Amino acid sequence: MKVIDKKRTLLFIGLILFLTGCIPGAALTQTAGVTDEVTLVTQENPSSSPIPLSMLSEEGVDYPWWNDSVFYEIFVRSFKDSDGDGIGDFQGIIQQLDYLNDGDPNTHDDLGIRGIWLMPIFPSPSYHGYDVTDYFDVNPEYGTMDDFKQLLTEAHKRGIYIIVDLVINHSSNQHPWFKAALDPESEYHDWYVWSDSKLSYPGPWGQGVWHRASNGLYYYGVFWSGMPDLNFDNPAVSDMMLEASRFWLEDVGIDGFRVDAARYLYAEGVAQADTSKTLGWFREWRPFYKAINPEAFSVGEVWTDLRSTTKYGGGDGLDALFIFDLSEDILNAVFAPNPTRITESYLDTLAAFPDLQFSTFLTNHDQQRTMSFYQGRTDKAKMAAFIYLTGPGVPFIYYGEEIGMTGNKPDEKLRTPMQWSSEKYADFSSKFPWIMVNLDYKDVNVSIQAEDPDSLLNLYRTLIAIRNEHAALRTGAYLPLESNSKSIYATLRVSPGEILLVLVNLGKDSLSDCQLSLAESPLRGSYEIEAIFGEGNFESINVNATGAITQYTIAESLDSGEMLILNLGR
Ligand code: CA
Repeated sequence: MKVIDKKRTLLFIGLILFLTGCIPGAALTQTAGVTDEVTLVTQENPSSSPIPLSMLSEEGVDYPWWNDSVFYEIFVRSFKDSDGDGIGDFQGIIQQLDYLNDGDPNTHDDLGIRGIWLMPIFPSPSYHGYDVTDYFDVNPEYGTMDDFKQLLTEAHKRGIYIIVDLVINHSSNQHPWFKAALDPESEYHDWYVWSDSKLSYPGPWGQGVWHRASNGLYYYGVFWSGMPDLNFDNPAVSDMMLEASRFWLEDVGIDGFRVDAARYLYAEGVAQADTSKTLGWFREWRPFYKAINPEAFSVGEVWTDLRSTTKYGGGDGLDALFIFDLSEDILNAVFAPNPTRITESYLDTLAAFPDLQFSTFLTNHDQQRTMSFYQGRTDKAKMAAFIYLTGPGVPFIYYGEEIGMTGNKPDEKLRTPMQWSSEKYADFSSKFPWIMVNLDYKDVNVSIQAEDPDSLLNLYRTLIAIRNEHAALRTGAYLPLESNSKSIYATLRVSPGEILLVLVNLGKDSLSDCQLSLAESPLRGSYEIEAIFGEGNFESINVNATGAITQYTIAESLDSGEMLILNLGR
């Protein structure tokens, strides 16, 4: 990857010039440079186009590596136990890397992911690790630093990048810094936020945020008394967190960070989220870590509405942001079919992040698992997977989602052991695990689903393989199609290299005489259709001189849940 920000802007401008044409008024049909399959046409009046031209990306544009990657979120404690102590570990992940990606793009019996997000791996007194006691080591329950470096090496061999959870808003109350800070005379006292009295204002979600310490003072902790917030107003704290990021990137060799609780670094009294100082810190952090590794990736947990999330991106903050609004829209609009809610949510997200620097997901380790949300409806889980794995943004799969693992709150139950087979303890461990395996593991596991061509796992494998092979799905423009049915989700994904049509019937009923229309587009002329995924007899699509598609019959009938990915070529 090269530093993309300015260069990409120039390429966008170049593409806009290409699309708008150098010959005034000419309705020329030009062939895109990469391949002669795709034809985009000059727009006589580009301002009338419903498509922001900046959304059209060009194959070969220097998108960073993460835009070409599907990520997989792993809770180390629950993924695979290599040494029989009931706790997942680094060597266990190494054993299972070929399941994630065997490094050979020609095999499709692996998942095909190209990035791993490891939930916290630093020493911590809790099972989850979000309260850190040492920012410069690994949790001994997960292995040694050498084990971790071996995992990095083995992952990199297979083309898998690894990012780790960076939890810097707060430490553990068991961290030596906090223990020392209890003494008001200690140099560490000012590393945390103190008050002589319990202040009355609540936290961002109504919780108590001032906690009594053993020294009689009160300290600020936005999440929990076990997680005292660090005082970023103290330059020593900020400098220490820069040093921690340098250590992991430079000395250890990871590929980036998932930034936990990014909204809360600086509280300014009752203003506790999204303060200007917090935004400013990330703008200083970016050049710092990019100087260490220009290809390092940061993705932020900014768990709020889309508009507030945008403040953290924009090319001078975090590289990418998780879009919680979009995931909620996809989940709900698949549950109670509402394709328009999905397309509008994608368009809103693209308008906020036209550079595609956002991350998509269904659920993560803090949320009810997807299969539980859908009450065991595999067909719904498949549709939701189809939508985000064929959509723009950088997808993140939560471990076990691909086999339909279930999980409802409390949090531990969202983070149970990975279900590898019907063997004892689901083949996660040879010993009773740190938490009980889901009761359904004999029916829901990797081993069974690997053999079933119709399984959720094999759908994930297939969709990721298609995404890996087709740049239009990863970075192409997103042009929703109109349909004569309220159940059909259909969109074009267009890059100058290729045009794909993505469609799924979200409804519970079969549909007949399914038609698609589009008022305006940069396409012109006639396109032959070739199925990449799904089956049917497809007539060629005719696009008129203004780029409209009118009542094109895509299928005489479509089953409930039927999915298509079609290539439009000459
Ligand atoms: Ca272990």
